[in-house]
Amino acid sequence: MDDALKCFLQREYQFSPKVLELVDRVEADIQPLLSKVDHIAMYNQAKMLKGFHDVGINESHFMGTTGYGYDDLGREALGEVYAKVFKAEDALVRAQIVSGTHAIASCLFGILRPGDEVVYLTGKPYDTFEEVIGIRGNQSGSLMEWGVRYNHLDLTPEGKVDIENIAKVIKPTTKMVVLQRSRGYAWRPSLTIDDIAEILNICYEISPDIVSLVDNCYGEFAEIQEPTEVGADLIAGSLIKNPSGGIAPMGGYVCGKKKYVDQVANWLTAPGLGREVGASANAHRLFYQGFFLAPEVAAGAMKGAILASGLYQTLGFDVLPAPDVKRGDIVQAIRFEDEDKLIAFCQGIQMGSPVGAIYLPIPADQPGYNDKIIMASGSFIQGSSIELSADGPLRPPYIAYLQGGLTYDYAKLGIAIATNHMYQKGLLDIE
Ligand SMILES: *Cc1c(COP(=O)(O)O)cnc(C)c1O
Repeated sequence: MDDALKCFLQREYQFSPKVLELVDRVEADIQPLLSKVDHIAMYNQAKMLKGFHDVGINESHFMGTTGYGYDDLGREALGEVYAKVFKAEDALVRAQIVSGTHAIASCLFGILRPGDEVVYLTGKPYDTFEEVIGIRGNQSGSLMEWGVRYNHLDLTPEGKVDIENIAKVIKPTTKMVVLQRSRGYAWRPSLTIDDIAEILNICYEISPDIVSLVDNCYGEFAEIQEPTEVGADLIAGSLIKNPSGGIAPMGGYVCGKKKYVDQVANWLTAPGLGREVGASANAHRLFYQGFFLAPEVAAGAMKGAILASGLYQTLGFDVLPAPDVKRGDIVQAIRFEDEDKLIAFCQGIQMGSPVGAIYLPIPADQPGYNDKIIMASGSFIQGSSIELSADGPLRPPYIAYLQGGLTYDYAKLGIAIATNHMYQKGLLDIE
């Protein structure tokens, strides 16, 4: 930060010079790590451009359909671009997929039949899936109510997939294995593409016909490959996270082997209708443009995460991952060990948001989640977490999960504002 910027921030945002110096110092230290991320972004941008060229995208693809949405050229071509970029046979990219949970749940319901078993290999699933599966709550229509059985393989004490014991949980009735690439709301490392390749190979050796699904939320463009490039049968995620650059107003995607994507489409709409319906109104350009920008936006988020990691490690907190560890997602976990610090951090992120900075987030119940959650998300798109956002369940050890930022510059400002807020409240010691 140059002097002009520092003066501006001190005058307009009551920054302590100590906080600004700290941010500068940490940023200088992590510079080589930030340029590594720029290389990932550049590679992914090239893949993206090639995808657009291979499918031959032109302005006519931006026209939407109404009603049933038959013959929606833009919708079909968008799926092809996703499939090209993620090197898969097929993809569904839809406004009618309402969230990441819906995308992944559609994969589970589309593939699994009564009597089948699904095994999560990355420990207990992300909170919202406990109700989808039926292991929490008593939701009508859960997988268990449909007679699908569930098991999971606990993570090792280090939070890794328990490779040695995969063979013990995959049985002849196991139809599907699920991997969660991102840490989600768990204090564990994300899976790298190499990890995913290794785990999937083990699964296919045990059971060649097993169907693999990777919950790809928060993972897209974190590396130069996606799970579909190392053997995943299906991946799914949310368009208000990494793959839409903060531009798509809603939606989700499913990508993978054609026969499985077809099954998912039949579940998503109705058998026989499948992928042939689903009007896009006028949203197509936003889906295309968002996907096109996504590599750069995800990189900005990753760089922000590295900065936050370095900053809070320097301030004496446990962080996951550490700044120099290879990342498989955009999420940065910071372990505050203290309720007030977690709350102040999230409130500080909200204070720095471009939208809704005047609101003060407070811990509250959230549908699909078990504990009270504090969520800071002053985003252009409701709940979008490719935009700078921080949240954490109100339970010890009071971990904040930070992600997003749209651009690195904004991520840096937002994180600095939150840090300054904590400092002014006397919650941080800065030397
Ligand atoms: C966000 C997320 C989901 C669910 O996505 P929603 O869009 O919030 O429904 C699932 N898995 C992981 C790992 C996530 O981060």
